[in-house]
Amino acid sequence: MTDPRLTDLVQAVPALRLKTEPSDLEHYGRDWTRRWTPAPLAIALPGTVEEVQAVVRWASQHGVAVVPSGGRTGLSGGAVAANGELVLSLERMNRVLDFNAVDRTLTVQAGIALEAVHNTARDHGLAYPVDFASRGSCSIGGNIATNAGGIRVIRYGNTREWIAGMKVVTGTGELLDLNRGLIKNSSGYDLRHLMIASEGTLGIVVEASLRLTDPAPASNVMLLALPSFEVLMQVFSAFRERLQLQAFEFFTDRALHHVLAHGAQKPFEEMHPYYVVTEFASGDEVQEAAAMAAFEACMDSGWVSDGVVSQSDAQAAQLWRLREAITEALAPYKPYKNDVSVRISAMPAFLEETQQLLGKAYPHFEVVWFGHIGDGNLHINVLKPDDMDNAEFVGQCEQVTTLLAASLQKHEGSISAEHGIGLVKKGYLESTRSAAEIEVMRGIKRVLDPQGILNPGKLFDV
Ligand SMILES: Cc1cc2nc3c(=O)[nH]c(=O)nc-3n(C[C@H](O)[C@H](O)[C@H](O)COP(=O)(O)OP(=O)(O)OC[C@H]3O[C@@H](n4cnc5c(N)ncnc54)[C@H](O)[C@@H]3O)c2cc1C
Repeated sequence: MTDPRLTDLVQAVPALRLKTEPSDLEHYGRDWTRRWTPAPLAIALPGTVEEVQAVVRWASQHGVAVVPSGGRTGLSGGAVAANGELVLSLERMNRVLDFNAVDRTLTVQAGIALEAVHNTARDHGLAYPVDFASRGSCSIGGNIATNAGGIRVIRYGNTREWIAGMKVVTGTGELLDLNRGLIKNSSGYDLRHLMIASEGTLGIVVEASLRLTDPAPASNVMLLALPSFEVLMQVFSAFRERLQLQAFEFFTDRALHHVLAHGAQKPFEEMHPYYVVTEFASGDEVQEAAAMAAFEACMDSGWVSDGVVSQSDAQAAQLWRLREAITEALAPYKPYKNDVSVRISAMPAFLEETQQLLGKAYPHFEVVWFGHIGDGNLHINVLKPDDMDNAEFVGQCEQVTTLLAASLQKHEGSISAEHGIGLVKKGYLESTRSAAEIEVMRGIKRVLDPQGILNPGKLFDV
């Protein structure tokens, strides 16, 4: 370790675990985007809040940028360290600190994996309802920093709804204890909500107090085959009117093709152009009859061509896999990702416009659509042709994103529904946030991180 700044860091925080091996720099310097070449200065793995504070104070003294790092499952480049930054990984701070049965809260260190939170909540007879496919690797700190959504937003909302309080280390090394689990608290600005979705640019989340809820009601999973894109929102309305939906997810035949190649089981004899996986409360005969009525109404209208209902937990998991394995199945193709949202009422017009736009703009690329359609959230993944250089591919995709961003602006949508802006959508922030809003965000950043050391270059340039 020849860098004098690191020698100083070791002296300032003697118990700190520090990694500088090239393989570690590569491993911790990137996220799922795989677009940037990792080049961090070093990886710091603090074990306590005090160590996090000391690292931030050292970084502030030496003007070293700090990249807060969770599970690095992020899809926007938020946790990428490609410019000599110090990666501050929360992976050692992964313990459950407290369960409060009266408040129904679970207090955890920020590096704990989402799945470990699910399991702990279940052990206490309760549930933490935010859920998505990277649950085994992503961290609560990363979920908070991106306001992660997932497959149950339609019923339970985003991460934001479930954060009762949090402890955060700001860019000056100060520790803020925000909201302290209160349900009612009208004592001025709610800084907790400012931290949610701030992508590590305002503070490092070190602890979080999570609200828990009753376990989900007994449910069933149904896979539907749709003949056309145009009927998607009609099917959604038909199901939402009759059932208590827990999830309503959509994907195309191209998505299914990749998931099947990845080892999933074919659900129907024939292939269909579009599919929906929906989960709904189904604990009694009345609910089961309502589900059949919704299905039959859609069949009678010609909106659905086939369907299957899970008969066991194993079959439900199999049907879910068709949707949940998409991101992983597409990863080898280095997809260019769009993660956009509009209000549900704007969805039909936006879908029609986007389909036309992408049909014209991407004639030579394979485009895979899927998403949390019940939340107005669409994932559009463009796959890189094998013989195309990465920079050329991204350049061509960015031209289309400019058109997509203009369409989103017209429909008052968002260029990032749930993945965050990070590096990948920084150039398009203005399509979703006004110049005045971005100026306010910059002002907030200056107060909480006066030296600009926390995740610089992500979200916006200061
Ligand atoms: C297969 C797959 C499926 C996915 N499905 C979904 C989905 O359905 N919905 C969804 O929302 N996302 C999804 N994601 C994206 C990703 O899992 C989420 O964005 C997740 O919240 C990131 O958590 P992480 O711990 O991996 O964060 P990282 O990738 O490590 O970091 C993400 C951002 O948070 C910041 N950060 C991390 N930890 C902290 C901290 N303690 N304090 C402050 N800032 C911090 C980082 O600097 C970065 O800006 C999926 C990803 C994969 C690979």
